[in-house]
Amino acid sequence: MKKALLVIDYTVDFVAKDGALTCGAPGIALEDYIVRLTEEFIRRKDAVVFAVDVHEKDDPYHPESRLFPPHNLRDTPGRDLFGSLKVIYEENKKSVHWMDKTRYSAFAGTELDVWLRARGIEEVHLTGVCTDICILHTAADAYNRGYKIVVHEPGVASFDPAGHEWALRHFENTLGAEVIR
Ligand code: ZN
Repeated sequence: MKKALLVIDYTVDFVAKDGALTCGAPGIALEDYIVRLTEEFIRRKDAVVFAVDVHEKDDPYHPESRLFPPHNLRDTPGRDLFGSLKVIYEENKKSVHWMDKTRYSAFAGTELDVWLRARGIEEVHLTGVCTDICILHTAADAYNRGYKIVVHEPGVASFDPAGHEWALRHFENTLGAEVIR
C-alpha cells in the first residue's frame, strides 16, 4: 500500500516557546521524532506533505479569528517549520510537498485528496500538532475518504493533555487508526 507522511502545523507559532499559539514543551519534544520519520520517508521515496496553516491578518470572515489569537500569518516567520525540520524541508524541496491549509483539517479546501489519489496513496501517517485539533480533524476527514490511518504517538502533541489522550483513543477506537507508540 502506497503511503504518505503528513506533517501538520509543525511551525514556529504552534511549537516554539514564544510562538503565537504554542503548545509548548510537548510540541518541542516531537522535533527529533518528526525529523527522523521525515528523513525515513524521503529516503524510501514515500510521499511527504507539509500541511501548514495560513491566515490573513485581521480576517473578519475566518471563524478562528474569534477563537484564537492571530497565528501562522502569511509571510511571517511564525509560519516557518520549527527547528531542524525547516532545514530538512529546504534541502529536500524536490521530494516533499508544501501545502497551505486554512482550516483544522488538511483536507478542508485543499488539493490534498486529489494529490494523494493521483499518486495511488491509500495510507496516511499523521504527525504534528495539535493532537486534538488539526490532527483530529484531518484524521476524521481521512476516515470519511476511506484512507488507512496511522497516527504516530511520539510524533503528535497538544497543549491539552486530556485532549491529547482522548484523541489517541478516538483515533484507535472510532476511526480505526493504527496508533504507533
Ligand atoms: Zn489556524
